Amino acid sequence: MKKTCSDCKTRFEVKLEDIEEGDHVNCPECNLEYTLIYDSNGKEKLVETKVLEMEDDEDEDDNEYSDYDSYND
Ligand SMILES: [Zn+2]
Repeated sequence: MKKTCSDCKTRFEVKLEDIEEGDHVNCPECNLEYTLIYDSNGKEKLVETKVLEMEDDEDEDDNEYSDYDSYND
């Protein structure tokens, strides 16, 4: 499938036969990381990993924030 990077607008080819749901691909231009997911219709989608982490941080927000804090010390 072709993916248009939401950051730098580069179009790049993603070989779905090489990756599985939950695998990551990176934009060849800006290195933005995407995660492959399947939506409710069973259609593959590439979503920015940082967006997924924001939606999904109820379980593990403590870890994320403690990493952040260490930069401020
Ligand atoms: Zn990009």
